[in-house]
Amino acid sequence: MRIQDLSVDAVYDALATTPEGLSAAEAARRLAEYGRNQVERIAPVSLLRRFARQFIHLFAVVLWLAAAMAFVAETFQPGQGMGTLGIAIILVIVINGSFSFFQEYRSERALESLVLLLPLNVKARRGGALVEVAATELVPGDIVVLEEGNAVPADCRVIRSMGVQVNLASITGESVPVVRDAEADPKAEPSAARNILPAGADIAAGEAEAVIFATGMRTMLGAIAHLTQTAGQQTSPLQKEVIRLSRIISVMAVGSGLAFFAIGMSGGMEIWHASIFAIGLMVANVPEGLLPTVTLALAMASRRLAAKNVLVRKLTGVETLGSTTVICTDKTGTLTENRMQAKQAFIAGQLVEASAVAEAGLAGKLALETAGLCQTLDVVDHQLVGDPTEIALVQLAGGKPGGEPVDGISFDSTRRRMSLLYAQADTVVLHVKGALESLLPLCDRIAATDGVQTITEADREALSQAEIHMAEAGMRVLALARREMVPGTAKEEWESNLVLLGLIGLQDPPRPAVPDAVARCRKAGIKVVMVTGDHPRTAEAVARQVGLVTRPHPRIIVGDHLERMNKTQLQLALDAPEIIFARTRADQKWRIVEALQAKGEVVAVTGDGVNDAPALKQADIGIAMGASGTDVARQAADMVLLDDNFASIVAAIEEGRAVFDNIRKFLTYILTSNIPEIVPYLLFAVFNVPLGLTVAQILAIDLGTDMVPALALAVERPHPEVMNRPPRRRSERLIDTGLLIRAYGFLGPLQAAGAMAAFFIVLAGGGWSWGQELATDAPLYLHATTACLATVVVMQMANLFACRSHDRSAFRFSPHTNRLIPIGLAFEAALIAALVYTPVGNALFATTLLDVNDWLRAGLFALLLLLAEEARKLIVRQFRAG
Ligand code: ADP
Ligand code: MG
Repeated sequence: MRIQDLSVDAVYDALATTPEGLSAAEAARRLAEYGRNQVERIAPVSLLRRFARQFIHLFAVVLWLAAAMAFVAETFQPGQGMGTLGIAIILVIVINGSFSFFQEYRSERALESLVLLLPLNVKARRGGALVEVAATELVPGDIVVLEEGNAVPADCRVIRSMGVQVNLASITGESVPVVRDAEADPKAEPSAARNILPAGADIAAGEAEAVIFATGMRTMLGAIAHLTQTAGQQTSPLQKEVIRLSRIISVMAVGSGLAFFAIGMSGGMEIWHASIFAIGLMVANVPEGLLPTVTLALAMASRRLAAKNVLVRKLTGVETLGSTTVICTDKTGTLTENRMQAKQAFIAGQLVEASAVAEAGLAGKLALETAGLCQTLDVVDHQLVGDPTEIALVQLAGGKPGGEPVDGISFDSTRRRMSLLYAQADTVVLHVKGALESLLPLCDRIAATDGVQTITEADREALSQAEIHMAEAGMRVLALARREMVPGTAKEEWESNLVLLGLIGLQDPPRPAVPDAVARCRKAGIKVVMVTGDHPRTAEAVARQVGLVTRPHPRIIVGDHLERMNKTQLQLALDAPEIIFARTRADQKWRIVEALQAKGEVVAVTGDGVNDAPALKQADIGIAMGASGTDVARQAADMVLLDDNFASIVAAIEEGRAVFDNIRKFLTYILTSNIPEIVPYLLFAVFNVPLGLTVAQILAIDLGTDMVPALALAVERPHPEVMNRPPRRRSERLIDTGLLIRAYGFLGPLQAAGAMAAFFIVLAGGGWSWGQELATDAPLYLHATTACLATVVVMQMANLFACRSHDRSAFRFSPHTNRLIPIGLAFEAALIAALVYTPVGNALFATTLLDVNDWLRAGLFALLLLLAEEARKLIVRQFRAG
């Protein structure tokens, strides 16, 4: 017999469990036997394979080509040192590949450790008590309690249903929720059986108690796991742009190299001589560590974000964050603390302190009874768990009373009310709570201190006035109502002829960090739009408290109004500088996001409920709540806020902006040194002067500067300045003309000028005259190229400071804020020292000892570069200010 064929009692027997759940000891035993409840990952690409991949990508191929040319030249013309050069290039490929591999590995670890931060917990019955259990520790026979918004953690058989509906989209593709209950269902297919909740499905509505009959790889989902596993992270636009850039650079490198080779050969040059050109231009142009450094910069940013309670589910999210122009935020829980407390009440015609409700005779007594009973809270580990609104009401009622409802109609943001039915001796009582405008039309009576009366127009007016009064103080107002019915009344007729009991005003203080975060958004040119299901007056009051609204008349659009607006009207309305959406239904959030996007905005939106999933998916950045949100929302989101705090979104945007900046910083840095590497070859070709830098020396520069120091720039912390400017335009490219002009048109030429000056000063000092040829092993030539090399490296050290900002003075940056900066500098210094002062360095890179004057000159040029850059930054700042 299949589990679905059995009656509920038989299910307990079949799985050797009880309605009270398994004992802790039995659960532990089963965990050992059946393993953890997780779907295993398909075997990841082996480390060796991934290491090998580092040697076949585009840049590596260009370098292999260069090495091959060297070896070909060696066979044709031995004795010119071309073979050694080939070996040196291969060495560089290996060092580069290893470093890239290491960076990729680090990125991956950084991201993997994030996944562990978001454990999925499930309510389970163990030994008679309801406890929170990690989803991975569930075992067959466990009884779980699932409610709206939960992901089904394993294959379950329903044993009790309170109107549970399940969304099987992830399994069957059908996204209309279907009803499930505890009846035996022998006829259907397992995944379609009416009493089965398969792992991976979502609870769309209601609540169910279910017993687990399969976990981990034994679930239906596990069986098809290999089909659903996605191929890792998708490439982000930034990564795509870098790949595109790599292609352009590689083609340019190879193209220009081959062109020079051809020109050289046709001009009667010897093959080794012509090859030197080609090889030099190729290796000079290739920015080796580019792509892994970009990925690492993104991964490191997501790690920093995790420390700020923001979990990025897709790397793409980090960079989109940086261009966010509008945040649509929830009110309750995101701007406020979600710690509600009953503050005031309107009961039996009187506005009173919440503590005085009990003194209001019959109305008070009934209101407190409904406040206590009309809730779906659970007691987990002796704590009330659930909706803070309900917790506040239960606390007002003096605690959660005994008794379970027999039926109910659940809350949703469209109806804005909920009802629960409790059985008494010979009648049933329906307890209702919700927004006043949702309840009032259903009421025909109202409770007073000494009895129940017909509700009058005056009563309705007084109620509305009291609601507005409390809402204007920022309170969330809930109306309470009840009725007695004969058992068997049709569900459609339940919510009518109600007795209105009173209003309760709940205070929910704003989070302390929010006003500052809102102010930072203003400065950063980011618009913040509140979207809430609450009353417009409550929404406006809270918006004022946190600084979202400063004008006397913000634009406030309620859900019913929004319903009647077409897209054009909505887009026009969104032009208002301060705008609040109140009494909004979750399905309307999606429209707001879409209209903003139609206006060209980059939209971040928060959401916690099941119905928020479409808006979260539509948004450029969907942000789900980690503390209070549902599993469904979290799965639809790009980011999860572990602390639900609005301020964390702003911190995340700051990081997103910084990443973009950082990548531009290290790109500028890497590209700068290409110019002093290329110029000697051009001079050699055009003026036939001795070659200022050998190919091996170019490789040394790239190894010294493209790796560790560039990495230092990639992980720079966000500068406060990044939040004082408007968002980056979506069309803004990573590598724009500004960046290219600064690297190739300013910093690069300065560095080349310094390097060539050093070269010729040494040559002239040694008696060389223009046009004179020098042997490649002449001491004067060795000295001059070594001075040239050292000058480039020392100038790159200064450039590291210059590149920390494109417009702010290098002297205003503390070296202590980034410990990789001193490490990068030390790395460069050690490298050049090793090249100049060790016999091995001398032999491999054709270098020789330098004297104090050479170093002083290099230092002077470095200083000049820094000062020139300071002057340029000053002009940029003046230009912007003026
Ligand atoms: P938000 O989360 O944006 O503050 P909700 O959609 O949760 O708004 O709530 C909208 C309205 O629905 C509230 O103003 C309140 O009147 C009503 N409401 C909220 N929670 C409950 C609940 N648990 N039971 C009944 N009514 C509720
Ligand atoms: Mg809510």
